[in-house]
Amino acid sequence: MTKIIVSKFGGSSMADAVAMKRSAGVALEHSANLVTVSATYGTTNNLIKLSELALNSTWEECEVVINEIVEKHHSIARDLELVDLTELESLLSEVRTISKGINLLRDCSAKAFDAIQSLGERMSSLLFTRAMEIVWNGKKPVENFDVRRVLRTDDQFGKAQPLIGEIRLLCDEHLAKCKTGEVVYVTQGFIGQNEEGHTTTLGRGGSDYSAALLAEGLGADILQIWTDVAGIATTDPRIVPSAKLMSEITFSEAAELATFGAKILHPTTLTPALREGISVYVGSSYEPLAKGTWIRRECSEAPLIRAMALKKDQSLLTLSTPKMLHSHGFLYEIFKIFNQHKISVDSITTSEISVSLTIEDSTLLNKKLITELETLATVNIEENLCLVSLIGNNINHTAGLAGQIFNALGDINVRMICLGASKHNFCFLVDEARANDAVKELHHHFIGA
Ligand code: ASP
Ligand code: MG
Repeated sequence: MTKIIVSKFGGSSMADAVAMKRSAGVALEHSANLVTVSATYGTTNNLIKLSELALNSTWEECEVVINEIVEKHHSIARDLELVDLTELESLLSEVRTISKGINLLRDCSAKAFDAIQSLGERMSSLLFTRAMEIVWNGKKPVENFDVRRVLRTDDQFGKAQPLIGEIRLLCDEHLAKCKTGEVVYVTQGFIGQNEEGHTTTLGRGGSDYSAALLAEGLGADILQIWTDVAGIATTDPRIVPSAKLMSEITFSEAAELATFGAKILHPTTLTPALREGISVYVGSSYEPLAKGTWIRRECSEAPLIRAMALKKDQSLLTLSTPKMLHSHGFLYEIFKIFNQHKISVDSITTSEISVSLTIEDSTLLNKKLITELETLATVNIEENLCLVSLIGNNINHTAGLAGQIFNALGDINVRMICLGASKHNFCFLVDEARANDAVKELHHHFIGA
């Protein structure tokens, strides 16, 4: 049986007609059954900028950004010799109409914001379908498929949660033809639809996640994530230029790596793949022949430290109160507040009368949250910290590891440590000013170079 393959191409693989044709060639080379695409490079940012201008500024300023979006898509359409422009024009006029509505009402609801952002993927998939037709040259019929027919989500606009059960049923119902290989579908990442038929988005960078959900829905064997770097590196090469590309990494390690700052994959991408045991390949559409990285349930080797990541802009909240002494339910009360604010906590450490925790994004620190926490304890906030994570195997059962880490760090002050909870992760907080040094020293010690 031939394998079912879902391929996802990110914004840089959609940058212009040349990049699109190159990506279409990669999809052909691998006989992709379903191709999921991001918006063209920079377009989601432009649509967000447009909605902000529409909300706060003049229509003239909006028109400047609209023209930029129109020009970019027209130019790709021209280069791909797209003859029938009806659908593209109708999407471009949707960009105009929604932003006009926001501008007139001076109101941009979460629903409107998702509607406008969805246009990036809807336009790029249309253009990419044309690129596929050119490159596949009749080898298989290529069709543009509206992903909202199958990617059912809840109502959390901007961060919608997929409804897996329904997605599976809808994929069975609507995607059978690409599964059997009769056609290849080109579809949109990042967007979905709620029960009432309103467009939702899965959050920034969500196209990877969409592709994984579709791979799960299709029962695919392989999910390919094509980007502009040939695989996952041992750390960010901008910090350590000698960082190496890894040929393989396990789901658990890759998930930690993505959650703890590596920009390579959207952190939730791997959940559907892991659930179904779908192997994930990360490669570069610019260098399709270069060896990429395989993410699998099990790898041939399980090194103690395989990779490391850095997560910037961390805030450390320390809550202290003598009331915690020998009491119960205190953490429950604290986490209830974070839950009400829908804020995810990255790492946590406690002593008898205090608890320290970091949150995923310092912009989420708001007055209301702090005031509510202050009803329970004194709250101390430290900002401009970075979370450094070492990712590998058997980390919590290896004697002498902490000693090696602190030796390598020399005089770099460590603010908080999390060790023990995960076999795959050791993380700690350092001052932003020393974070790159910390990664360099640790990379040198554990991975070499
Ligand atoms: N276009 C969306 C974004 O830029 C989704 C994605 O590219 O994954 O966030
Ligand atoms: Mg992306």
